[in-house]
Amino acid sequence: MSDISNTHKDVLAKLTAASKRAAQSALPTLVAVSKVQPDARIKDMLAAGQRVYGENRVQEAQRRWGETFANHRDDLTLHLIGPLQTNKAAEAVALFDVIETVDREKLLKALVKAAEAHGSMPRLYVQVNTGAEPQKSGVLPDELPAFLTLMRDTYKLEPEGLMCIPPADEAASPHFWLLSNLAKANDVAKLSMGMSGDYETAIEMGATSVRVGSALFGAREY
Ligand SMILES: *Cc1c(COP(=O)(O)O)cnc(C)c1O
Repeated sequence: MSDISNTHKDVLAKLTAASKRAAQSALPTLVAVSKVQPDARIKDMLAAGQRVYGENRVQEAQRRWGETFANHRDDLTLHLIGPLQTNKAAEAVALFDVIETVDREKLLKALVKAAEAHGSMPRLYVQVNTGAEPQKSGVLPDELPAFLTLMRDTYKLEPEGLMCIPPADEAASPHFWLLSNLAKANDVAKLSMGMSGDYETAIEMGATSVRVGSALFGAREY
């Protein structure tokens, strides 16, 4: 068995245990973040049975899942977890099953147009900038209710969930707590939160999907 297969088992076991501690009725989804990882590791992860992957760049994802591993594409669920430029909306709609980084009206417009041309719309998450970091994308917590109203009423789009990336230099729990409360207050069903260092905590706080990269594949070598 490959190292990756063992690591995959180990992460799934921790995810399952955290989900039990939280008394969740359904297991959270493990999104394996494959960005930057070499093909050999991806191959081992596919062989380990992992079927849900996250990418943060459209072009890189197209190369990996539209070319190198195109023969697996039909069995997989692909999540876009990085910022999306409107000029890449059509490509993103064609490639991804889930777009987790919806955060502005211009993007809603571009997604609607792209989905009309493509014939279907990916599942959508709204990214929330829980730490109000100026360099980070995402809707500010205070502006979330108005953004969701716009999304639902004007664009007829129902978000499947909320997503956040807590500030790197802060404890993540207060951000997970905030995201969970925002979801409840705004009738949003799912929560994408938690990465390699804190996915168990995120699950204990209600994450329905976690985005795990280095803890599954090993460190990214840029
Ligand atoms: C890279 C990335 C991850 C995975 O990070 P790890 O610490 O390697 O688990 C999760 N979410 C987003 C948005 C990312 O860009």
